[in-house]
Amino acid sequence: MKDGKILRVAINAPLSRLFDYLPIPGQDALPGCRVRVPFGRRTQTGLVMETATESDVPVEKLKSIAAVLDDKPLFGERDLWLIRFTSDYYHHPVGEVAAAAMPALLRQGKPATSTTRYLSLKPAGADADIDAIGKRAPRQAELLNLVRDADTISFTELDQSMPLWRRAKKGLLDKSLVEEFEASDDESVVDNLANVEQERGPTLNADQKSALDAIRERKGFSVNLVDGVTGSGKTEVYLRLIDAELAAGRQVLVLVPEIGLTPQLVSRFRQRLGLEPVLLHSGLTDTARLQAWRSARNGSARLIVGTRSAIFVPMKNAGLIVVDEEHDSSLKQQEGLRYSARDLAVARGKKLDVPVVLGSATPSLDTLQRCRDGAYHVVNLPTRAGKAVPPLMRLVDLTKYDAYEGLSEPVITAIEKNISAGGQVLVFLNRRGFAPTLICSGCGKVAECTRCDSRMTVHAGSSMLKCHHCGAQRSIESECADCGAVCRPLGHGTERLEDALRSRFPGEEISRIDSDSTRLKGTMSRALAMATAGDTRILVGTQMLSKGHHFPNLTLVVVINADQGLFSTDFRGGERLAQSLVQVAGRAGRERRQGEVIVQTAFPAHPFWDELFSGGYQGVAESALAERESALWPPFSRLALIRAAATSRSDAHRFLDTARRLAEGSGIEGVRVLGPVSAPMERKAGRYRAQLLFQSRDRANLHQLLGWLRTALESSAEARRVRWSIDVDPIELF
Ligand code: ADP
Ligand code: ZN
Repeated sequence: MKDGKILRVAINAPLSRLFDYLPIPGQDALPGCRVRVPFGRRTQTGLVMETATESDVPVEKLKSIAAVLDDKPLFGERDLWLIRFTSDYYHHPVGEVAAAAMPALLRQGKPATSTTRYLSLKPAGADADIDAIGKRAPRQAELLNLVRDADTISFTELDQSMPLWRRAKKGLLDKSLVEEFEASDDESVVDNLANVEQERGPTLNADQKSALDAIRERKGFSVNLVDGVTGSGKTEVYLRLIDAELAAGRQVLVLVPEIGLTPQLVSRFRQRLGLEPVLLHSGLTDTARLQAWRSARNGSARLIVGTRSAIFVPMKNAGLIVVDEEHDSSLKQQEGLRYSARDLAVARGKKLDVPVVLGSATPSLDTLQRCRDGAYHVVNLPTRAGKAVPPLMRLVDLTKYDAYEGLSEPVITAIEKNISAGGQVLVFLNRRGFAPTLICSGCGKVAECTRCDSRMTVHAGSSMLKCHHCGAQRSIESECADCGAVCRPLGHGTERLEDALRSRFPGEEISRIDSDSTRLKGTMSRALAMATAGDTRILVGTQMLSKGHHFPNLTLVVVINADQGLFSTDFRGGERLAQSLVQVAGRAGRERRQGEVIVQTAFPAHPFWDELFSGGYQGVAESALAERESALWPPFSRLALIRAAATSRSDAHRFLDTARRLAEGSGIEGVRVLGPVSAPMERKAGRYRAQLLFQSRDRANLHQLLGWLRTALESSAEARRVRWSIDVDPIELF
């Protein structure tokens, strides 16, 4: 069709394309506005991405939109760009990206702006004789009095001050003594000022100063890695950068792995910057989330601290994006739209022409390699700020010592010594529950999940067997169904470790922190507050404890078992293990007392240990990068996965066979296709999973192929029998 305007709308459906509609005459729907559109047999909320003058569909077949939901665009041009970029880069349906970029209430078509209704006084109302009115209509007189006192008063306030005021309102309106109006809260400003005494920070040391200078020197877009050991003062550097942006009237976005884990960071921002950070995370109610989103968009939220999905929040006037703990895997979404918030932060920073700061004590190898390439800049903070010295790290050979419930003799001695010296101990085990396995003492049968290829974890507190992959539960069987012998838990989880510590160290304050113990709202922050105050003598927990916390009294960190990571089949295994060990070790000795770290292993001769002990994280990183370069793994190549899951194994494989055949027939060169293979844990929640791996040295070729495949697969017959998705830059190969 020619002439006239066509709206190209993103609709939350698993299809890559935009859908064309005709506008409602006289009602503008600009790009960035939501619309209701007929879609199939229903109506759907969609986002206008662009307008066009032509459509592939003949005009008489085009439908009209049903309604315009926003009179002003919700997303500006650069926000729409980010949605489009994400959709293109991750080969994910644009409508699903648009949906992910919106708070739930907006996705559901609820109004973006909330309005408040008021009554206000008219001149006649100011002059009216209240007593005269009161004789015939006492309620009207009472209401008029209230409005007179306030001049303008909201309906909410009236609800609180006068029951039944609504009945009196009509009389006053009819007499033209008051008027009613509505005002949009859209432009309302959030109160940024924190109710705290603003604190001054320490004088920066030489490393921090040169880091700060180096970052500030670069104008506009740049990516800067702050590579500094835990406690080196990275946060102090962010604080100075943030402060300067805020002072210049610009907004700052800080992405963190998990807000629940970083109450200390948020309160530090509050205290040092003297303003209340606006938080964006999954724990908010829908209304609170919309409000936070709106304040970011209208510019009144100055500092926004959020988890990964906050990368999509529109900002009126952004000046800086900080990604803390940039190596953390929770910055990458692992289902649906599998985006990396860190990588999108870089793309967005470039589009907005603002600096991006990535910080970590254990930077990802991808980021380190970009620094080597010169694409990113790196500043180093090699020593701890203040007076803290780095912790001493040593191995305990589990094959040489007796162990009590997983705790070796040297570990027990070290715990005793630290506690009696008034220190605090963190015992780290990345496995929650009581025991990872329930085994029959007679025939050796192991309790398995009926829906997954996995073992059930024993949870003693709730007397349940739970599958950590699909959530299935059943009660613990005490006798074997096959042979009748007694079943026993095998191996250790945090729950069992807590029991062991309680019986070995009776009377000491012990606290377990993992996702089971902190399920109730508020328990996490209470446990953390007690640990920070030093009341807790022994902390037991999973990686929830290893991230970002600052426990001033902590002197000893014990890693119960690191051996699983030594033999990981994933090429990222070594990088992950080093990150998790160095992060948890970084909790020790953060103030005056020197910390100590003990790692138990049954494989002390594994070369990994030598790399870590002689070269630190950097040593592991260098050798891992060399290995990856020779094997052409990322960051020396690009990967993508197509995953498929189906109720029958053959459906999943058949779909991927088709994908492979299509890829090979595409004529696009330079991309290796590996597979299809079954996923390492093939069956999950009753579905068989398989995957096809793509590897290429050339990003452009890989993306061309993926784009082409996506369209071809969307219309393939095999696709109807599977759930499938594309994972670009996967961080887990299964
Ligand atoms: P990181 O973010 O690298 O873990 P922080 O910024 O949290 O490090 O700093 C660690 C500790 O050292 C904090 O208690 C902080 O107040 C303190 N600190 C940071 N920089 C300095 C400095 N220049 N002088 C004194 N203390 C500092
Ligand atoms: Zn399961």
